[in-house]
Amino acid sequence: MTLTAAPPSPANNTLPTITRTAMLFGARDLRTTELRIPALGDNDVLIRVAAVGVCGSDMHYYDAGRNGQNVLRQPTVLGHEAAGVVIAAGSASAVAVGARVAVEPAVGCGECDTCRNGDYNICPTGTCFGSPPTHGTMTQYLVAPTRAVHQLPDSIDTVTGSMIEPLAVAVWAVQRAQVGIGHRVLVTGAGPIGLLVTQVARAAGATEITVTDINDDRLAVARELGATRTINTSTESLGEAPLYDRVIECTGIPPVLWSTIRTVKPHGRVTVVGQAAPSVDGLPLAFLQRYEIDLVTAFRYAHAFPIAIALVESGAVNINRIVTGRFGLDQAAEAVQAPVKDPRHLKVVVTPQS
Ligand SMILES: [Zn+2]
Ligand SMILES: [Zn+2]
Repeated sequence: MTLTAAPPSPANNTLPTITRTAMLFGARDLRTTELRIPALGDNDVLIRVAAVGVCGSDMHYYDAGRNGQNVLRQPTVLGHEAAGVVIAAGSASAVAVGARVAVEPAVGCGECDTCRNGDYNICPTGTCFGSPPTHGTMTQYLVAPTRAVHQLPDSIDTVTGSMIEPLAVAVWAVQRAQVGIGHRVLVTGAGPIGLLVTQVARAAGATEITVTDINDDRLAVARELGATRTINTSTESLGEAPLYDRVIECTGIPPVLWSTIRTVKPHGRVTVVGQAAPSVDGLPLAFLQRYEIDLVTAFRYAHAFPIAIALVESGAVNINRIVTGRFGLDQAAEAVQAPVKDPRHLKVVVTPQS
């Protein structure tokens, strides 16, 4: 395989062969380790990773060695939210060396019927960076398929670029929720995803957006970012009046979901975004049926990165406000614990080059 010619610079003559990574060996055992960089395929690019967002899933893997159904069985590099600079491209890749890109961590197998229909987020055999055993993006250098990279405009720096992934989650959630002009929307949970969903719902035309949480600091950020009303559900009840056209559930807590269903208008729609428990009791199924309320789910995203990038570039979404901390690669263990230790953190970023 051949590499495309790059502008002459010392770095291009000596492409790295080894990368330093933040590897999870077991619960609460995250260490910096060197790995050989895999061979670059014709359709791959080699990225110098500039920033990696820390996600709730990274925190779960770190804390418990598992995230929902997925269990860590062998040492795995963490992280799936990344942006950086392309430093080499395979012979069949159209991406220019020097391009600044956001990385889409799960693009499906590309071959099955589901992928060929464009529904690659639900590909039955697809892998995702940072979902064990697939190594993740907390690494200095990352090989990724060309179809997984999305060029960033000049106005978006690479730290912001690493937030395109969680924003894509929010874009897909709002698309699955079918939020439209004039809708009254309830968003449960003012964590990073809820705060991004709030902004995307507003961009999609929602005119009233109520956000719930049990943390007043987070609710204050929600108001700053476009929530028209906030409810601290530890002190105030949600009520049962049918107020909302759409509910977007971002907590993953079943009783939160059940309580919101009774606030949805007839023919409304409830979208589950927060990670679901394997099975749950208490679903008010008869109520859903009585009012023909749709209950739908969202898993990752498909075709959402370009929209997420456009929303940031246009100013419709502010993602810098949710980045509250930066850590070097050697501080990755500190980074994945930071949001738990200090709930004022929203999103922290690991910068593998420092
Ligand atoms: Zn994530
Ligand atoms: Zn597939």
